[in-house]
Amino acid sequence: MIIVIKKGADATQVENLKTLLRSKNIQPHVSEGSLQTLIGCVGDVAHIDPGLIEALDVVESVQRIQEPYKAANRKFHPDDSVIDCSGVKVGGGAFAVIAGPCSVETDEQLLSVARSVKASGATMLRGGAFKPRTSPYSFQGLGAEGLRILAAAKKETGLPIVTELMDFKDIDLFNDVDVIQIGARNMQNFNLLKEVGAHTKKPILLKRGMSATLQELLMSAEYIMASGNPNVILCERGIRTFETALRNTLDLGVVTILHRLSHLPVIVDPSHATGYSYMVESVSTAAAAIGADGLIIEVHNDPPHAKCDGAQSQTPEMFARTMAKIAKVRAALA
Ligand code: PEP
Ligand code: MN
Repeated sequence: MIIVIKKGADATQVENLKTLLRSKNIQPHVSEGSLQTLIGCVGDVAHIDPGLIEALDVVESVQRIQEPYKAANRKFHPDDSVIDCSGVKVGGGAFAVIAGPCSVETDEQLLSVARSVKASGATMLRGGAFKPRTSPYSFQGLGAEGLRILAAAKKETGLPIVTELMDFKDIDLFNDVDVIQIGARNMQNFNLLKEVGAHTKKPILLKRGMSATLQELLMSAEYIMASGNPNVILCERGIRTFETALRNTLDLGVVTILHRLSHLPVIVDPSHATGYSYMVESVSTAAAAIGADGLIIEVHNDPPHAKCDGAQSQTPEMFARTMAKIAKVRAALA
C-alpha cells in the first residue's frame, strides 16, 4: 500500500500517521520527492481499510499494490489447485463436467437424467434441492426429499453430487453431498461463507454474484479459505448488465483473468449465463477452448415441463452432442 501525502502537509500530522501505521504493525517508509511525499507501507496490510487512511487530513490518496486476498492469490500459491470431488478432480488440467437438472423433481426424472449424462461423459451430477427463487410462489425445491433422490442417483450411477446449500442449518442433511454449491445470490452471504469454511472440508462451488466484481468473488473465496476450507471452485455464470437479449452477460475472458489472479479452478455455467438451451453448446465449447477447468450444464429429460429453468436446459441428446464437441476442442488444444 502506498500513501500519497498532501502537498504542504503538517509534519506533526504526518508523524501521527506513521505512529498509527506502526500501531497496526505496518512499517512506514517515507520518500520525500521534490513534488510529492509518499509513504510505502511494509507489512500485512490486508486488515487495513484504505478508506480510513484516505479520510485523514494529510492524505491525498491511497493505492493498494497488493490484492486484499491471500489464500486465493496465485502469488502465494503459484501452482494450480486441484480440487478432489470424491475422486473427480477439477483444475490443473483436469476438466470436469457437472450436468443435471436445475432442480430435483422426482426419482424418475433425476435417474433418467443422471443415466443419460453419465453415458455422455459427465463427471458429476447436479440438481437443486433447496432453490433460491426470485418469486416466493415459484417451486422452492424438494428440500430433504430432493437430497434423498440425489443420493439414490449417486448410488446407482457413481456420479458425485453437487447441490446448493442456502442455509447452514441444513448442513446435516448434506452428508451424501460431494460438492456444496453456494449460489450467485448467496455469494456475499458472509456468515454462510464462514460456516462452510469452518465446519466442512467438502469442496465448495462458489458462483459469481450477478453484480459482483472479480475481486468481490475472490474475497468471497477468501472468506471460505480463511475460515479453514481450501477446497474452492470458482464458477463464472454471467453477470447482469444493460443487455436484455440474454439472461446474463458472459465474459469468457474472466476465465483467463481469474487464472492469472488465483490458483483456484474456474468453471463456466453456460446455462445461467445465456438462459437459452440453443446457446449452451457453442458457449460450452468456447469455455473449454479458453481454458476453463470445467462446466456446469443444466440438462432435463423434458425441458418444456421442467419446474425450473426449462428454457435453458438441454435435452440429453443436445448434451451428448455438446460433450462430443467439447472432446474435439480439448483434443485439438492438447
Ligand atoms: C442454479 O445453479 O440452479 C442457480 C440457481 O444458479 P445461480 O446461483 O448461478 O443463479
Ligand atoms: Mn437453474
